[in-house]
Amino acid sequence: MNYMCKNIDELRAMLDRKAVTSDLLFQEAIERAKQYQEAYNAFVTIIEEKKEQDATSILSGIPYALKDNISTKGILTTSSSNILKNYMPIYNATVYQKLESAGAVLMGKTVLDELAMGGTGTTGHTGIVKNPWDSSRQIGGSSAGSAAAVALGIVPFAIGSDTGDSIRKPAAFGGIVGYKPTYGRISRYGLFAFASSLDHVGCFARNVKDVAYVINIIKGEDPYDMTSLPDDNKNYVDTLENEIKERKLFYIKEAFENYETSEDLEFKETINQFFKTVEKVKELGFIVEEVSFPKELLSAIYPTYMAISCAEATSNNANLTGIPFGVRGEGNSIHDVMMDARTKGFSELIKRRFVLGSYILQKENQEKLFHNARRVRRMIVDKMNELFEHYDGMLMPASGGIAPIFGEKTDQLSDRYLILENHLAIANFGGFPSITIPSGFVNDMPIAVNLTGRQFEDDVVLNMAYKIEEITDCKDQIAKGGK
Ligand code: GLN
Repeated sequence: MNYMCKNIDELRAMLDRKAVTSDLLFQEAIERAKQYQEAYNAFVTIIEEKKEQDATSILSGIPYALKDNISTKGILTTSSSNILKNYMPIYNATVYQKLESAGAVLMGKTVLDELAMGGTGTTGHTGIVKNPWDSSRQIGGSSAGSAAAVALGIVPFAIGSDTGDSIRKPAAFGGIVGYKPTYGRISRYGLFAFASSLDHVGCFARNVKDVAYVINIIKGEDPYDMTSLPDDNKNYVDTLENEIKERKLFYIKEAFENYETSEDLEFKETINQFFKTVEKVKELGFIVEEVSFPKELLSAIYPTYMAISCAEATSNNANLTGIPFGVRGEGNSIHDVMMDARTKGFSELIKRRFVLGSYILQKENQEKLFHNARRVRRMIVDKMNELFEHYDGMLMPASGGIAPIFGEKTDQLSDRYLILENHLAIANFGGFPSITIPSGFVNDMPIAVNLTGRQFEDDVVLNMAYKIEEITDCKDQIAKGGK
C-alpha cells in the first residue's frame, strides 16, 4: 500500500480507525526515502529509529521531513555545508519542538543548497538533488530535498525555509504547494540564520488544506524569537471555504512585455497558460486586474535582494569558524585555523557571497550599497502596500518557465530573469504571506502560480489559494518518479 501519497485528512482518518499504525507509516516513509535516495538525493539523514510519542493532534503519527538547516537536538544538522558536516545540535528549533509536541514523526533531514543560499539544489555537500518529474532537471532550491520528498510521495508535508523564494520556487518546479507565511508568524529560533530580515520558516504539502493544517500547528509567538508575532489565534483550516466573491487580485503588466514574440516556446506557453488560469480565476468570482509597477523597481529586486542578503549572511555566518563547533581547521594561529576551516568548508558560491557581503558592509561602502539597497526595498514594499489598499493579493506565474536542465545557462540581465524569476523576493522584502500553487504542465513539467497577500492576512491568502486550487486540477500530485 502506498500510504505516503495520501493527504493529511485521509491519513488521520485511517490512523483514527486503526486501519493503519503510525509505525507502518514511518516504515513506509523511510523505505520510500531509501528507494529514491540514489536517484534524487533528497536526504542528508534518513532517521532509522522511530521516536515514540503519545500526543494527539491532526498531525500525530504522521511522518514528515525537516530541511537540514533546522536544529534538531542529537540529530546531525549540516545545513548541507562541509563546515557543518559533523555538527550535532544541542538544542531544538521551535518549529521542530512544536511538531514533536503535536506528535508528528520526524523521518529525515533534507538536502538544501549550502547554507540555504542559491536556488538550484546543486550546491549541498552531499550532492545534487534531482527533479522527481525529470531527473535531468533541477528541482530548484534552496529547500530542494524537502520539495523532492513531498513530490515523491515520501512524506505528505515537509518544512523548509524561504529567504528569497526557497520554498515557493522549488514547489513550483516540483508540482506541489509551498507556503511562506507572514514574517514572524512562525518562530525562526533554531533556523540557521541566512539573512535575518528576510528569513522565514514555511512548508510544502500536496494541497492547500494540508499546508493550513501544518501552519496551524507551527505558528505562534516564541519568547526565543523576538521577531515572532503574537498568535492571531486563527484556525486557517476553518476559513478555507470562506466566500471569495469580490476579492480583488492584480498582476504586474511589466512582467509580460514581449512574451508573445519570444522565441522561447516554453516561456511563451507558461505565460499563455498563466493567462488561461487568470480567466478561470475570474470565473470563480475573483476580480483580476492588470496594474503597472515601476520597471526600475522591478529590475532592482534582484540586486537589492543580493545586497541585503549577502550583507546579512556575511555577518550571520561569521560564527562558522570551525572553533566553537563544526569542522576544525589546521594552522599555527587562531587566524590560520579559521582561515583553513572556512577555505575548505565553503563552496565557491558561498565564498563569492561572503566577499560581496564584506564589501557591501565595509564602512566606506555601507551608505552607498547597503543603505541604498534598504531604501529601494522600502520603495518596493511601499508600492506593494499601496496596491494592497485596493487589492487582496497579487497573482503571478511562480516562474517564467519549467525547471531548468542541469547546466542550462540563464541570462541574468534579461527582463524575464530580473522580473519573472525574482519577483517572489518581494514577499520577503515586505514579510507578505505568499503561496505557490501548481497550475498545469508545459512539456510534461509542472508550472505554478504564486499568490501573495497583505501582511498578517495568512488566513485570507490560504482561503484564496484553496479556491484557486479547485480550478487548477493539480491537487495532490505525485511526481512521475514517485509512481
Ligand atoms: N535563490 C535565492 C538565493 O540564492 C533564495 C534563497 C532562499 O530563499 N533561501 O539566495
